[in-house]
Amino acid sequence: MSDSIHRFIFDDYNIRGEWVDLQQSVSRLIEGHDYPVPVAKLLQQMSAVAVLLATTLKFEGKMSVQLQTPGALRLATLQINHQLGFRGVARIDEMQGKVGSDFKSLTEGGQLLITIEPKTGRRYQGIVPLEGNSLAECIEQYFSRSEQLQTKIWLFQSPQKICGLLIQALPDMTQQDNFEHLTYLANTLSDEEALSLDKDVILHRLFHQEKVKLLASSEVSFYCGCSEKKILDSLVLMPREELQEILKEKGSIQVKCEFCLSQYRFDELALKQHQQPRGSDSQH
Ligand SMILES: [Zn+2]
Repeated sequence: MSDSIHRFIFDDYNIRGEWVDLQQSVSRLIEGHDYPVPVAKLLQQMSAVAVLLATTLKFEGKMSVQLQTPGALRLATLQINHQLGFRGVARIDEMQGKVGSDFKSLTEGGQLLITIEPKTGRRYQGIVPLEGNSLAECIEQYFSRSEQLQTKIWLFQSPQKICGLLIQALPDMTQQDNFEHLTYLANTLSDEEALSLDKDVILHRLFHQEKVKLLASSEVSFYCGCSEKKILDSLVLMPREELQEILKEKGSIQVKCEFCLSQYRFDELALKQHQQPRGSDSQH
């Protein structure tokens, strides 16, 4: 089955849930980048978390989850749209030594930001405190603090795949016991089960004594969105002399998209046509 997220609800308890299952998209995300293993793992976790967040915090537009640190992992960013297409990249500064091996050391001294840019309306930015021992824990704390919603997140990961489970109290949940009961049940899910079984089997195995109702499912995919036009738009912002120099030396300007690693090549004519002020451009 393709990469997807499934929503469900425990009607009697006013508690909701999500199950996300990503394989092709997270492989595409790290393919060809040569990331150190801990960085690849973190990017995969950020993908699963971004899909869970995008499904929870409904918006029309774009959202990003971005980590910046003063250490060797300078930046890890994950961008997702409301159709659940995502891309991401990490930048590593080898002058700063080796990247950390676990979440704590990877993110030390850093800042984790969630930014939502809706198509209409105001941009939202929230800071996720890096106090937990894992990304999942930090996001749980973020929900409890900023959204006042009690949340538990479990991530299950192999080099090829990541799955995630979210359980969240709705504002009208009355019995704390129910939340703890579902948490207790979810805690029994092993990595092996999560990564090998179908979501229906998993939900049945965990919650067969509860009334769990499946809601909508959505597909998730890797989506970069880079294009010749967007790259040209950014190229023409560079000083003309600099572009001329590269053209003189190499005959063309080559640009690689840092997210999907697509290669673009532009010659002088393509740049000139793009540099023409809007309005006088009759080519379109
Ligand atoms: Zn791209």
